Amino acid sequence: MTDAVTPSSRAPDLAGAIQADVVVVGAGPCGLFQIFELGLLGIKAHIIDSLQHPGGQCAELYPDKPIYDIPALPVCGAQELIDRLLEQIKPFNTQFHLGEEVTEVAKLDDDWFYVATARGTRFHTRAIVIAGGVGSFQPRRLGCAGADAFEGTQVHYRVRSAADFHGKRLVIFGGGDSALDWVLDLCGKASDLTLVHRRAEFRAAPASVAKMRDLVAAGSMHYIEGIAQEIVVEDGVLRGVRVKRTNGEIETLSTDQILAFFGLHPKLGPIAEWGLTIDRRAIHVDTARFETSTPGIFAVGDINVYPGKKKLILSGFHEAALAAFAIAERMNPTKKVHLQYTTTSPIMQKRLGVAGQ
Ligand code: FAD
Repeated sequence: MTDAVTPSSRAPDLAGAIQADVVVVGAGPCGLFQIFELGLLGIKAHIIDSLQHPGGQCAELYPDKPIYDIPALPVCGAQELIDRLLEQIKPFNTQFHLGEEVTEVAKLDDDWFYVATARGTRFHTRAIVIAGGVGSFQPRRLGCAGADAFEGTQVHYRVRSAADFHGKRLVIFGGGDSALDWVLDLCGKASDLTLVHRRAEFRAAPASVAKMRDLVAAGSMHYIEGIAQEIVVEDGVLRGVRVKRTNGEIETLSTDQILAFFGLHPKLGPIAEWGLTIDRRAIHVDTARFETSTPGIFAVGDINVYPGKKKLILSGFHEAALAAFAIAERMNPTKKVHLQYTTTSPIMQKRLGVAGQ
């Protein structure tokens, strides 16, 4: 039933899968603009990202930094760019699937595709655009032997529900905004709270660090400068964590839960297993359609490579426009897709919700 574009040999289960024209993998700037270009041509798409919020590198790595090379915007904050792109695609009522990593892609006999996420959301789609950037962002792990076995139960890299930590003994690792925000939120709600950070300097906002120090001085929580050395497990339950202080002393902290915020790093991950031609962590595409070695699967933005490729946002925007035309042709091979200007095209203006203005 399927060809090589699948990591598994079992036939995909299509019952209950979401029917889609296009699935866009990655909600960075290029994935978002892909939605816009498809929308102009009357094609609706679903968009998936492993992060909890759209914006890719712009939102995750440098939200407050200025970008100076977006055409017609002399300066634009990285998060501002994402907000503007989100505003621009509003007319298309796109369905976002956030916090979901796409793990499986399979080509079906009828030239449609099966796409599945780690959370079990499944799609039956006519085309796929991979806008995966430098890969999906993964949390940096605690780095203690055996900690992986407790991930999601007693060791966490994100907070799904703050109430899960109320009344519990809690150790939080990290010195950035995520760590400090959760320290301030959970102090007084956790039965016992210790923050562990590897050095005296914090990346978090100085006001948050000052509040944390006040809480320590008031005896409401503890602070240790050091690193996690090993977890303490008894009868299959995590009971504590041994921490090596900066002065070399080892301290055992009894705890029910561990939260670690060491930042995120990108990982090409499952994209490498979809049978596409990949060279040095990038997907080969042609420069007329931005199609990969598998017809029907396109790749735009930082994830693709072709002669002369430059990893710039504006390059990804151009690629998204051409990929959208190629997808429109693929979906309706007998119909010529004419170039239209948004300035003068009534149908495009209708799609944008600006007709008659
Ligand atoms: P990304 O922004 O990387 O987004 C890809 C998204 O795909 C991510 O959100 C990721 O979580 C998701 N994803 C990946 N794999 C999966 C999967 N399997 N399942 C679900 N989701 C997945 N460019 C410029 O043009 N001008 C600049 O001034 C500029 N400044 C920069 C400054 C810094 C500090 C950095 C780091 C980059 C800068 N760039 C700049 C580069 C620019 O940010 C990238 O070119 C751009 O973000 C690429 O967009 P993208 O949509 O292709 O990928």
